[in-house]
Amino acid sequence: MSDPLSPDSQGEKAPRQRYVLDDRGFDEVPKKYRKFYRRWEGAGDSLAPNEVLCPVCMVVIRSTRELRPGDRVYCMACMARMKIVRGEDGKLEAEVVY
Ligand SMILES: [Zn+2]
Repeated sequence: MSDPLSPDSQGEKAPRQRYVLDDRGFDEVPKKYRKFYRRWEGAGDSLAPNEVLCPVCMVVIRSTRELRPGDRVYCMACMARMKIVRGEDGKLEAEVVY
């Protein structure tokens, strides 16, 4: 597994915007996976359309593709599996799948 967004994710059909990820120095995962994660910087930080916050360890999970409700992502930092849902405020959130 490389990109946390699994390839079988069921999203809407429109083409997704793609993103080039940079290494933000997230050192809790092996170097080759660092660009897929970054630390949440708290108030003032915001999520891009390809990012979602892990509700378990509060690490930002980043994909090379825009995220959509129904996508499944994996947090390598805490090993939680999540599903993307649209929250009450209209923003994307990750819901842990047990
Ligand atoms: Zn996590």
